[in-house]
Amino acid sequence: MKLQNYRQKRALHESPEPQAKVHKGKGELKFVVQKHEASHLHYDFRLELDGVLKSWAIPKGPSMDPSIKRLAIMVEDHPYDYRKFEGIIPSGYGAGTVMIWDEGTYSVEGESRSKTESLMRAGLKKGGLHFTLEGEKLKGTFSLIHLKDQENQWLLIKQKDDFSTKKEITKQDLSVISGRSLEEIGDKKAKKKSL
Ligand code: MN
Repeated sequence: MKLQNYRQKRALHESPEPQAKVHKGKGELKFVVQKHEASHLHYDFRLELDGVLKSWAIPKGPSMDPSIKRLAIMVEDHPYDYRKFEGIIPSGYGAGTVMIWDEGTYSVEGESRSKTESLMRAGLKKGGLHFTLEGEKLKGTFSLIHLKDQENQWLLIKQKDDFSTKKEITKQDLSVISGRSLEEIGDKKAKKKSL
């Protein structure tokens, strides 16, 4: 069953996180990168596919430098609505602060939604995904490569194109939806004041 692992890891009646619903999006396929200050800081990289978000946790975050390979741990599928979640997970699994660090659309070689989805399904089976992101921070072609004999370990690699650069993209560290820093999102007092 879809999203069973997502549901099992959380007490969703006690969490502000989205319910475990499969939701088929429309138009272009979406992606989101959430900066997540949990027990260890990481970036959650999520690609819409078949009504859920395929998800990888990237400890060091994405890079725009093709010579850098970033470890990406595949984690449980997340509901489509998770791409709009920014805020505080007060306790339990993933407790900490979540920022929408980047969001946008993606495709495989400019293909349609349905063709991209079928290429992505095949790529997941084969262990190699190649796609183009159109985000605010992340742009251009990327690959996710499954490491042989490793259950959940993949590498996120920028491909060389007009957008590749040695500049460290994670230095841009504000939310693309609220303009807030992680500290501001995590500051409950500041949040109360603004309400
Ligand atoms: Mn996370």
